[in-house]
Amino acid sequence: MTEHAGAGSCFAGPFPDEQVRPRSLSEFIGHEDLRANLHVYLQAARDRGQALDHTLFHGNPGLGKTTLAQIMAAELGVNLVSTSGPVLERSGDLAAILTNLGRNDILFVDEIHRMPIAVEEVLYPAMEDFKLDLVIGQGPGARTVKIEVEPFTLVGATTRIGLLSSPLRDRFGVILRLEFYSPDELARIVARTSRILNIAITEDGALEIGRRSRGTPRIANRLLRRVRDFTTVRGKNAIGEEEASHALARMDVDESGLDQMDRKLLSVLIEHYGGGPAGLKTLAVACSEDVRTIEDIYEPYLIQSGFLKRTPRGRMATAKAYRHLNMLG
Ligand code: ADP
Repeated sequence: MTEHAGAGSCFAGPFPDEQVRPRSLSEFIGHEDLRANLHVYLQAARDRGQALDHTLFHGNPGLGKTTLAQIMAAELGVNLVSTSGPVLERSGDLAAILTNLGRNDILFVDEIHRMPIAVEEVLYPAMEDFKLDLVIGQGPGARTVKIEVEPFTLVGATTRIGLLSSPLRDRFGVILRLEFYSPDELARIVARTSRILNIAITEDGALEIGRRSRGTPRIANRLLRRVRDFTTVRGKNAIGEEEASHALARMDVDESGLDQMDRKLLSVLIEHYGGGPAGLKTLAVACSEDVRTIEDIYEPYLIQSGFLKRTPRGRMATAKAYRHLNMLG
């Protein structure tokens, strides 16, 4: 077994996300095709000395959308200005940001599907012609002023591409989907994070955490942090498979990476609704959870890993869910 960091390493210390976030495309693990294509687009934009086409990343939370936006800015040597859809309440908020951008800078808008429509309309001419049509004043005295902005790249991130209006979606030249990561890719991410934080971990230990991280790098890094706590308190120098497995069981993360809420969702569906179909709102009420949280956080992984099915009549538990919970179908 290979250890990724020296034994006896310090387990203490802060764990800011920024410390472990990949800074270049070569540090970004997995998604080989996406990475290769992005590399070409970045190189072409650099060679031409022009702003890169507007780019949209979509996929579940924690899969690397923000990371890629930061990498793009770093690789192009431009500034990154970050904001998010719900923060841009008025068109003036967006206009202020756009007029302050430097040539070829990147404007990153997280949760872009939550941007108000009035703000979105200001964005269209800015994306197409680097111009703003601002309405000054109200009523009969109102007038439109055209302002030029520097060429820029809009990088949007969304967990819900279906909620994006088609005029907005059509204005992105590059649309890239981030999928869940494989256990091996997550193990490599865990190993890399361990190296940065000087945590000793074996290959098997990293794979055990990777297998139970719901396909998501952010979760893998969070679980690593907690496993490190358990390992330290047990007086062990390195995280092996047994340490990882013990700590994850203590945190109620099961063999398939499902946590308490995942299991509750499936068992409510099976016990109260005969396995479904049941509507999302009904399920949310029965689990005392917010509809959006279920839809954005829990459901995608349960569907992807074959525990849950989405049908036109509602959600249904699969045979795999029955087996997993030791329930009779
Ligand atoms: P999102 O914006 O999609 O919610 P982030 O880009 O913030 O996700 O990623 C969450 C964390 O996961 C980051 O801090 C980063 O350290 C880690 N991460 C994401 N993708 C990768 C990757 N491909 N390789 C290594 N670490 C990653």
